[in-house]
Amino acid sequence: MKRNDFPILTETMNDEPFIYFDSAATSLTPEPVVNAIRDYYRNVNTNVHRGVYTLAAQATEHYEAVRQQTADFIHADKANEIIFTSGTTAGLNQVARGWGDLNVHAGDEIVVTLMEHHSNLVPWQQLAQRQHAVLKVIGITADGQLDWSAFQAALSHQTKVVAVTAVSNVLGTRNPITKIAAAAHAVNAAVVVDAAQAVAHFPIDVQAWNADFIAFSAHKMFGPTGVGVLYGKTERLQEMAPTQFGGEMIEDVTQQTATFKAAPLGFEAGTPNIAGVYGLGAAIDYLAQIGYEAIQTQEHKLDQALKAALDQPDVTVYGSNNPFAHTGVFSFNLTGIHPHDVATALDQQGVAVRAGHHCAEPLTEALGVHATVRASVGFYNTIDECARFGHAIQATRRFFA
Ligand code: PMP
Repeated sequence: MKRNDFPILTETMNDEPFIYFDSAATSLTPEPVVNAIRDYYRNVNTNVHRGVYTLAAQATEHYEAVRQQTADFIHADKANEIIFTSGTTAGLNQVARGWGDLNVHAGDEIVVTLMEHHSNLVPWQQLAQRQHAVLKVIGITADGQLDWSAFQAALSHQTKVVAVTAVSNVLGTRNPITKIAAAAHAVNAAVVVDAAQAVAHFPIDVQAWNADFIAFSAHKMFGPTGVGVLYGKTERLQEMAPTQFGGEMIEDVTQQTATFKAAPLGFEAGTPNIAGVYGLGAAIDYLAQIGYEAIQTQEHKLDQALKAALDQPDVTVYGSNNPFAHTGVFSFNLTGIHPHDVATALDQQGVAVRAGHHCAEPLTEALGVHATVRASVGFYNTIDECARFGHAIQATRRFFA
């Protein structure tokens, strides 16, 4: 399925056909996206929102068209609710600083989950420390789901923010965002969703989720690195202050003071990643062409095949027993073999996986380990690759036995 668009997939690695099972870290970039970035540098290469000459106007027009395209992509009401960032991390930090500092005060509570990536945990820790607020971390059940009763019990009128990942980058667990947002809104808390691991697998629907802020990265949805999206509801963006100051975000500047533009430009100080935004637009087009339905059909098959491949003695898979609860992400360990040794042995057999705590150290600790091996797939992977991965795991077990 469209594998030809990803030249890396036809490479060999260590004399073996290359199997890319690290899409949760970054997805591969198809030719149309690479071409869009090249086209910008070859044929446009001007700054946005500044020059009046034709080529600069063309760049601005395209940049703003991608903003509208992004709004449509996630069903946002208005293009002005879309802020271009450098990625999920930047978006989440912007909310924690720009909105959090103004709206979270001493004694207020911030609720996150044990599933959070560090980029949706540490900014809230820092906010809690700055404001003398309380950070509550909601645990998970034995099968890797959010502990719903603990979550409900944690909510109160002190809760100002609920920050949650749509999909765990370690377990693949998909969180019920609509339900979480409804419960959080019942106590007037703002809902911040880390959609980094969702966007390659299923649609982000701002209307259905009803979240206040949503952050994601282009490089996890077949787009380039260094560009991402922060969605904010208009009324929430009005409550947020800029965290970066400089060119193009100001309205008027005197020697001593300045006033700032409203969203989105007030939150995009300096020259943005214009080529990245061209690439993001091409990635959205690409996703539309493939279609989330086709992606999900293929990924269900891959999830099942990965579960079968890992169904071996001495293999512990973390999270649910249901393969479809993994959203393309399987974290596992081989008894008695260090995860980094497993990853190295797999690399020797052409398989790229990640080993470590996956920027979710508290979760890894809660699983009772220091690290796991993580295999994560995209729609471009095949059932045959899953089977070959299973054989590579067998060979790894034999090698270390
Ligand atoms: N959240 C999750 C769940 C992630 O998987 C990642 C990427 N590993 C991030 C946030 C951070 O994304 P980025 O590095 O693109 O800012």
